[in-house]
Amino acid sequence: MKLSRLGEFGLIERICRSAPTRRGVRVGIGDDAAWVSHGSGSSLITADLLIEGIHFDLNWTSLFALGHKSLAVNLSDIAAMGGTPAYAVLSLGIPRHFDSQQIDEFYRGFNGLAKKSAVALIGGDTNIAKSLIISVCVIGHAPRRPVRRGGAKVGDDVYVTGTLGDAALGLKLLRQKRSRQKRKLIAPLLARHHQPTARLAAGTLLARRHLATAMIDISDGLLQDLGHICKASNTGAAIWHEQLPLSPAYRKFAAKDGSVWALCGGEDYELLFCARPRDRAQIEKLQAVAGVKLTRIGSCVPADRRITVLDRGGNALPRPIKGHDHFKK
Ligand code: ADP
Ligand code: MG
Repeated sequence: MKLSRLGEFGLIERICRSAPTRRGVRVGIGDDAAWVSHGSGSSLITADLLIEGIHFDLNWTSLFALGHKSLAVNLSDIAAMGGTPAYAVLSLGIPRHFDSQQIDEFYRGFNGLAKKSAVALIGGDTNIAKSLIISVCVIGHAPRRPVRRGGAKVGDDVYVTGTLGDAALGLKLLRQKRSRQKRKLIAPLLARHHQPTARLAAGTLLARRHLATAMIDISDGLLQDLGHICKASNTGAAIWHEQLPLSPAYRKFAAKDGSVWALCGGEDYELLFCARPRDRAQIEKLQAVAGVKLTRIGSCVPADRRITVLDRGGNALPRPIKGHDHFKK
């Protein structure tokens, strides 16, 4: 079958069916990170690949930002399981025309975030490539019970951290030619695209206090990643359109695009999680400690009601375009 028909997730399911396993694998393929136990406890492991021309364009991003981002996207997957990152393995495929200063700049971005996050760079591999390829694997400490995608129940609330759609709107604006002054105005959106923030504090607190029943990080757009939670949990979800947390810059620049980037834009790296309604007060309090806003945007409904976005009157809005699937584009 052509990969364009199978899609990224169909392909992953196919890989999963024949994946070898062994004792100690508590969560394998299919969540934000794997969870493995060993003699001295248990660890979370995740990997992400960034490829020039597919995930980034060096005309629009600095190598410093790229270094930061290539680690941040992995930290975000550890956060989505409620873990604490500890070790990173970084492999680079580097085009011949690069010089050592460019590589230094990349490592300044990577190492800066690693130090801030108490992550040690412990290895990797280096080779020549036709375009820049960045492969990062992060290993973290698991909480007693990592939060999986499949634990949501009908009636649970649905929350997100931070604001939605900024990174995708930033990327769209980045592609348009703008004056220097305009660039300044859209800087908050561009920053979200270039240097995303992994919501580590929120993730660990939600896991440690057993508040999240299911969790994922939003890398492919709210609706698509909510789809992963709903599929794994066998629920549907109703999202209240007017509750979507939008930043001031988003409201200012989204214009006729409305909420499309908030619903379907990729690379927010916010956490999407479900929680029991009886824990609302605790979640409200957690915001101050986590240092990020937590917004209740909907609730889990029976699976046959699928995922809907509702207007103020409770009417379903037409569902906008889908999220990211690298093989289906
Ligand atoms: P995320 O968006 O959270 O990084 P992905 O959608 O990339 O997650 O991956 C979903 C799951 O599939 C993860 O468990 C990931 O480790 C696994 N996965 C992705 N690609 C492969 C592959 N080529 N071989 C084995 N597992 C894979
Ligand atoms: Mg993820």
